[in-house]
Amino acid sequence: MVMSAFTRRTAVVALAVATLAVPSIASAQTPEPTLPPPAPETTPAQPGGFSVTWETLNRANRAVGRDLRRSKAIERVVSAVNDLIVVNRAIPIYFTDETEIGPAYLPDQNGQKLGVIVFPGWFLKLENDALRRQLRGVKGLGPKRALQYANQFVVAHEIGHALVDQLKLPVTGKEEDAVDGFAAYLLTSDKRFGPLVPLSAAMLFDAIKHDDGKLGDSDFADEHSLPQQRVYQFLCWIYGSDTKRFKGIVGKDMLPRARARRCADEYRQLRSSWDQLLQPHLKEAPDAS
Ligand SMILES: [Zn+2]
Repeated sequence: MVMSAFTRRTAVVALAVATLAVPSIASAQTPEPTLPPPAPETTPAQPGGFSVTWETLNRANRAVGRDLRRSKAIERVVSAVNDLIVVNRAIPIYFTDETEIGPAYLPDQNGQKLGVIVFPGWFLKLENDALRRQLRGVKGLGPKRALQYANQFVVAHEIGHALVDQLKLPVTGKEEDAVDGFAAYLLTSDKRFGPLVPLSAAMLFDAIKHDDGKLGDSDFADEHSLPQQRVYQFLCWIYGSDTKRFKGIVGKDMLPRARARRCADEYRQLRSSWDQLLQPHLKEAPDAS
């Protein structure tokens, strides 16, 4: 049977979730949250670096926002970045319904320097609805957890844009691909996050794209790579990060063997490139003496 591009991609992701959500990998994830007390409205002020501010969202988006805030998923990514990289300017990340656009890093607006990341409440709601649809019948990953993972990837992607701007990092090729790479670099190499983060993001991009299986000029002209390409790129980075552990995602209806062959090298190149780019901006390791 010839599946449409859409059906086929959904199958790819569902299969990969089933493969990755085996207990040995699930146990490497952050433990199931036991609903910690709500985070303070704003993470502590600091001279530079990233911080998270949760504004009161519109009623329709409030429950999704509250769940995400309580999970502290976003704050974990922000502390991983703040622990690693020095950014002299303070860059707030706002969860707000005061904006129509986003999620986005806004370097400036109307000629004024801004340097903020915005996440609109409506986007959280849209993600929530999309992931619920996408994960119907998929075992091993629920929509609530997928929403946390997907937004960990999305916030790391936006932080990548902010780093390119603030640290004047060179980018050759599409910046959208480069900062997808930053998110994968940051999150796959850190045991606190793991492969379900990029995978949930792949699933999200797949689900929210208006897509009837036909691609038009606007898809090809888009500054982002096609969702299908992002899905396979993320699978390739996951597999390349540990080819023994993730060998299960290679094969028929998943990551094609022909692509998989190069993924270990691709992942090594990703790591060494970001290591080099960030090297001058790394925080000094605390003195052990
Ligand atoms: Zn982007």
